[in-house]
Amino acid sequence: MKTRRELILKELGLTPVWRIKSNPLRQDSIQPSQTQEVTQFRQSPVEITVDQAPQSTIQHMDWNQLKSEVAYCQACPLSQTRTQTVFGVGDEHADWLYVGEGPGATEDEVGEPFVGQAGKLLDNMLAAIDLKRGYQVYITNIVKCRPPNNRNPSSHEANQCRPYLTRQIELIKPKIIVALGKVAAQNLLGREDSISSLRGIVHNYSGIPLIVTYHPAYLLRSLPEKAKVWKDLCFAKATLQSLP
Ligand code: URA
Repeated sequence: MKTRRELILKELGLTPVWRIKSNPLRQDSIQPSQTQEVTQFRQSPVEITVDQAPQSTIQHMDWNQLKSEVAYCQACPLSQTRTQTVFGVGDEHADWLYVGEGPGATEDEVGEPFVGQAGKLLDNMLAAIDLKRGYQVYITNIVKCRPPNNRNPSSHEANQCRPYLTRQIELIKPKIIVALGKVAAQNLLGREDSISSLRGIVHNYSGIPLIVTYHPAYLLRSLPEKAKVWKDLCFAKATLQSLP
């Protein structure tokens, strides 16, 4: 049964009464004038808060709306411990999209993906196939906030963040995606397989070829694997060149 307040608000066309707690730029947010009117009828302090726009809204966002939505996101516990969100960096119409796992300590401080030790190695990996951060390359992560102590993001955290990455990919329209490491590969492909079984295959992400390689942080610990990454990147380049 609807309360008297709900019936009045419905009659006034002011339902549902959602107050966006944190993102003033979101287009579907209730306007200040409406908020004031709602307040006049409020009889109890109960308030519904929305910590993330619905997926159906996110999938129509432009770059600015999406960046703002991510910056104010509180959809999972990582928002409580982050210094800032790390949206992504690079050419917004890049042919190449590199996807990592989640920001580390340096990225959380700086607000850009792959700027720590692993980032230096990623830049070298790009240079090895004549690519450069920001030029025909976009870099982002599965989750946009740092998991504490650099743990892997949980499946809840990755799921909450998924609509943002999905929309980034739709906006960039990359010709090829490179998944850096197991977390990125498993989340993008929706599979639990080991990284070794996912390497060396052209996967399909919504019609875009996707190549799996090791995460640069893993390479820092296991330098002999560098040759395998070199092979994967050459494979990715050949795949891109072979596209019609
Ligand atoms: N590791 C990642 O997966 N992403 C970053 O941005 C930094 C380190």
